[in-house]
Amino acid sequence: MRLPEPYYSRVLRFCKELASGRWHQIDGKLRVDGPVYDKLTHLIANVRFCCLGVACELALREGVGHRVDAKYWDTADAVALDPAGNTSDLTGAVMAFYGFDDANPELTILCSQVSDSQPGNWCEDCRGVPDDERNVECTNTINVSATDANDDLGLAFTQIADGFARRWLGGVEALHATPTS
Ligand SMILES: [Zn+2]
Repeated sequence: MRLPEPYYSRVLRFCKELASGRWHQIDGKLRVDGPVYDKLTHLIANVRFCCLGVACELALREGVGHRVDAKYWDTADAVALDPAGNTSDLTGAVMAFYGFDDANPELTILCSQVSDSQPGNWCEDCRGVPDDERNVECTNTINVSATDANDDLGLAFTQIADGFARRWLGGVEALHATPTS
C-alpha cells in the first residue's frame, strides 16, 4: 500500500526521522522525560520516545495534538501526548494527520528480524520449524503492530522505519533514496 498525499510525505518524513539516529528509544510509553546515562556516566539523552511517540512529537510540531504532563497519574514520568492522558497509542488527530487507520498502526517487517526467542511471531513457513533449522535470513514479511515491534520484538528505530515504509509507502526505496538536492 502507498498512502496518497499529503499523508505519504508526512509518513516519509516520520520514517526518516525515526532512522536518523536523533531519537532515543524507550519501551512502553510514547515519551518519557529524564536523564539517561551510559556506563561511563555520560549523559546520552534527556528525553526518550517509542516509535509512536516520535510520530506524535513530529505531529505536535505541526500543530496537531497536545502535550499534557502526565506526572499526576504516572510515576514513571511518562508524558501523555493527548488530553485524555493516553501514554501509549496515537490519538485520533495524529492518526488522521498521517492517514493511519488505527491508533496502533500496522507495519510490515521481515521474518528474519524476529529473534529466535520469539518463534510465535515467525512467518508461517518458519513457524513449527526447530530453532536450529530455521532460515535466519528468511525474507518473508509479516505484519505487526507498531507497539509490538517497538516493545515486544525490540526492533531498532531503523528497522521500524523500514517497517512503516513497507506497509505505508509502498516499499523502503523512498526512505533510502539519496537526496538529489
Ligand atoms: Zn520466515
